[in-house]
Amino acid sequence: SQQTIGVIGLGNMGNGMCQTLLRNGFKVYGTDLGVAQQASARALGVAVVESIAALCEQVDVILLSLPAAKQVQEVLLGEQGVLNCAQAHTLVIDTSTSEPDVTRSLAKSLAERGLALLDAPVSGGPAGAAGGTMVMLVGGVEADLVRAQPFLDALSSKVVHLGPSGNGHAAKLINNLLCAAHLVSTAEAVALGRKAGLDPAALLDGLNAGSGRSAISEVNFPRWILNEGFDSGFTMQLMRKDLRLALELIEQTGLELPLAQLVGAQWAASEATLADQDDFNCIVKTVAPGDLL
Ligand code: NAD
Repeated sequence: SQQTIGVIGLGNMGNGMCQTLLRNGFKVYGTDLGVAQQASARALGVAVVESIAALCEQVDVILLSLPAAKQVQEVLLGEQGVLNCAQAHTLVIDTSTSEPDVTRSLAKSLAERGLALLDAPVSGGPAGAAGGTMVMLVGGVEADLVRAQPFLDALSSKVVHLGPSGNGHAAKLINNLLCAAHLVSTAEAVALGRKAGLDPAALLDGLNAGSGRSAISEVNFPRWILNEGFDSGFTMQLMRKDLRLALELIEQTGLELPLAQLVGAQWAASEATLADQDDFNCIVKTVAPGDLL
C-alpha cells in the first residue's frame, strides 16, 4: 500500500519537502498554524488537517520542519501534542535546526512511550527541499534510521549518520557556523577585490576555480547577492538563532575559537540594521558598506 507521512510545519522548507514526497508517490498529511502555509500545501495536494491529533490518526511517521527547539518541544510535548496523540511505535523525524541537548532529552521522553525520534536537520534550502537534493545530518539509533530510509532517500542526495541522538543537530550548527563565516569572509574578499580594481564577477569566477571557493562563492554570490535579489528563502532570524546556538555549543566544550566569536558578534550586531525577515544573505551589507555591491 501507499506509504504515508505527516508533516508538521509547512513553511519554506516544509512546503518544498511536501512537493518532493508527493512527487515520489507518498501520501502526505500536513498541519501548520499559518493559514497561508496551509493553503499553499493544500494546493500541492497535501491533505491538510487542523490539528496534530488529527494528523496522528492518519500516520505513524511524522516529519517536523519547525523554526526552533521551542516549537519542537511544544509540538511534541504539548497537551495536544505528538507524545499524547501518536499511534504506538510512531517515528518522528525532526528536520528543524534545533538544539542537541533538547533533542536528546526529547528522544528519551519519546522512547519511554515507545516512540522514536531521529534528528535529521538539512542543508540545501527551499530549492534543495523541493528538488529532493538536500543533505541530511542524522542523529539517532540505526534501527530508526533504517525505518526512515525511504523518506530520507526521497528527500536527499546524501544522508550522513553522525551517531546518537543530538549529533545531527550538533553537526548542523557547525555547518551553519561555517556558512555564516564564509558569507562574511567572502564579502570581505569581494569588497577588497573591488577596491583593488577587480570586477566582482570575474574575481568570483577565478576564486571558484581555485582553493578560495565555498558554497557561498559558488552559489550564494551569483544567485542571491551580486544581483541584489536577496530571496534565498532563509531568514536572518533563523541564521542568527543558529549562530547563537553554535556559540553555546562552543561554550559547552570549553574551546576558545576567536574567529567563531567574531562571526557570531557580527551577526548579533546586524540586529540593529537588518530585520528578522530579511534574507540571511543580507549580512554582506554589514561588511564594508558601500564598497561591496
Ligand atoms: P518557516 O518559518 O518558513 O517554517 C516554519 C513553519 O512552522 C511555519 O510555517 C510556522 O507557521 C510553522 N509552525 C511554527 N510553530 C508551529 C506549531 N506549533 N505547529 C504547527 N506549525 C508551526 O521556516 P523554514 O525556513 O521552513 O525553516 C524550518 C527549519 O528548517 C528551521 O529550523 C530552519 O532553521 C531550518 N532550515 C531552513 C533552511 C532554509 O533555507 N529556509 C535551510 C536549512 C534548514
